[in-house]
Amino acid sequence: SDTLHIVGGGMAGSEAAWQAAQAGIPVVIHEMRPQVGTFAHKTGDLAEMVCSNSFRSDDDEQNAVGLLHWEMRQAGGLIMEMADRHALPAGGALAVDRDGFSQAVTERLRAHPLVSVQPGEISELPRDGHWIFATGPLTSTALGQAIAAETGAEALAFFDAIAPIVYAESIDMSVAWEQSRYDKGETEEEQKAYINCPMTKAQYEAFIDALLAADKTEFHEDEESSSPDPAPYFDGCLPIEVMAERGRETLRHGPMKPRGLTNAHNPHEKPHAVVQLRRDNKLGTLYNIVGFQTKMRYGAQAEVFRTIPGLEDARFARLGGIHRNTFLNSPRLLDGQMRLRSRPNVRFAGQITGVEGYVESAAMGLLAGRLAAAEITGRTLPGVPETTATGALVTHITGGAEAKTFQPMNVNFGLFPPIDAKGGRRGRKDRYKAYTDRAKHDWQFWLATTTPVPA
Ligand code: FAD
Repeated sequence: SDTLHIVGGGMAGSEAAWQAAQAGIPVVIHEMRPQVGTFAHKTGDLAEMVCSNSFRSDDDEQNAVGLLHWEMRQAGGLIMEMADRHALPAGGALAVDRDGFSQAVTERLRAHPLVSVQPGEISELPRDGHWIFATGPLTSTALGQAIAAETGAEALAFFDAIAPIVYAESIDMSVAWEQSRYDKGETEEEQKAYINCPMTKAQYEAFIDALLAADKTEFHEDEESSSPDPAPYFDGCLPIEVMAERGRETLRHGPMKPRGLTNAHNPHEKPHAVVQLRRDNKLGTLYNIVGFQTKMRYGAQAEVFRTIPGLEDARFARLGGIHRNTFLNSPRLLDGQMRLRSRPNVRFAGQITGVEGYVESAAMGLLAGRLAAAEITGRTLPGVPETTATGALVTHITGGAEAKTFQPMNVNFGLFPPIDAKGGRRGRKDRYKAYTDRAKHDWQFWLATTTPVPA
C-alpha cells in the first residue's frame, strides 16, 4: 500500500510524518505513550521535549545548529514552525515553551487529513510496507530486542559513552605528534590515525588531582534501573574519573599508557604518560580522546582537558558524557537513504540513528520523511549535499564516521568538507560564514530540485 508507517511520535517521527503528509502520502504514526511510558517523558503529546527547553543557538551564520534551524525552516518543517511560534526570549538561543510547543505539534498533525495517530507499542520490525522507526534514545525494551535480533547485538548500543571530540586544527602539533602505538597499521594513513600528547610525571600527577577534584554528574536513578545491564558501566567504558579513583596509576596503565610511542619532538625522553587522540571522521577534521568517556560536568571537562600538553587551545566539537541511549551502528547498518541494508522497507530516523539532540533528531526525521515519500511515489531522491548541515549529518552517520568507534554526534562544522585548501588561513568567523553561505546555496538547490510540486 501507499501508506507510510512511522513508529514513535517524538521529534523525528513528528517531522517525518509532516513532511510525508505534505508530499501527499498517507501516514500512520504509531506512538506507545501514554499507554507505555519512558523514564523521561511526562505526557502523551507528540514531540515532547524530555529535558531542556532549548533548541540551542539560532545563529544561522556562525553556528551549525543554527544553520540546521534555517535548513528546516526552508523545508517547511513543522518542528521549527511550532518552535518559532512558541519561542521564549533567550538571547541568541531558541528556547521554547515546551507545553505550548508539543501541544501545537500534536494538534497540527492530528488535524492533517492524511495523518492518523494509532496508539500502542510496536515491538517488531515488519517485513512489508513502508516504515520509519524513530523510537529515540528510550526505545522500548521489546522493540530494542527485536532490532538487536535483526542487526546483531553488537550493532545496537543501550548507552553512549562519549569521549570528548576535538577539532584537529585546534591541536598544537608543535607539542603533539602523529603516531599509532608500535607504529601499527598497514598504510601510512593508518599509522597516522592517532595524535599523541606527552605528559611529564608532574603534569600527570596534576592531571589526576584535577580529575579527582572535578565536578561530576550523577547517573539518573531511573536511568540505571531501566538499563538492560545491571551495572551502568560496562567493560571498556569506565569514566576516566572512576578509573582515577581506583588508583593514581590506573590511567597510566590504561588509556594513558606511554608504551610503544616515541615523542617525535623529543625522541630521547620517554613520556611519563600519553594522551592519545584517534581520528573520528574520514575528513580528518575531528579527533576523539581515546578512552576519555566521562561524567564530569562540561565546564570542568574543558578546564581539565586543556591542561593536557598540546590541547591548551583545544576547541571541542562535543564534550564527553555517558547516558542511557539506544542507538544503531548506522555507518554499518544504514544505506545513504537511511534504510536498513538488511531490510530496505525499514528506515530509521532521529536519535536512534546516532545523532544527538532535539534539532538533529528532527532534521533526520525531516530527511527520512522526504526520502520515504519520494520512494512511495516511485522516485529516488539524490543525496543531500554534504556541504549542508542536514547532508553533513546524514553523511556522517551513514558512512563518514568510523563504524568501529561510532558514538552519537551533534551537528558541527567539523563534519563539513573543509572550505579552505590545505594551509588556507582564514579567520574563524569568515570561515563559518563561508560554510553557512555554501550550505544555504546547496540546500536551496537540493530543495528546489527534489520537492514535489503539489498536484
Ligand atoms: P523521542 O523524541 O524520544 O521520540 C521517540 C518516541 O518513540 C517517543 O515518543 C516514544 O514514546 C516512542 N516509542 C519508543 N518506543 C516505541 C515503540 N516500541 N512503539 C511505539 N512508540 C515508541 N536533547 C537535547 O537537544 N536537549 C536536551 O536537553 C536533551 N535531554 C535529554 C534528556 C534525556 C533523559 C534523554 C534520554 C535525551 C535527551 N536529549 C536531549 C536527546 C534527544 O535529542 C531527545 O531525546 C530527542 O527527543 C530525540 O528525538 P527522537 O525523535 O529521536 O526521540
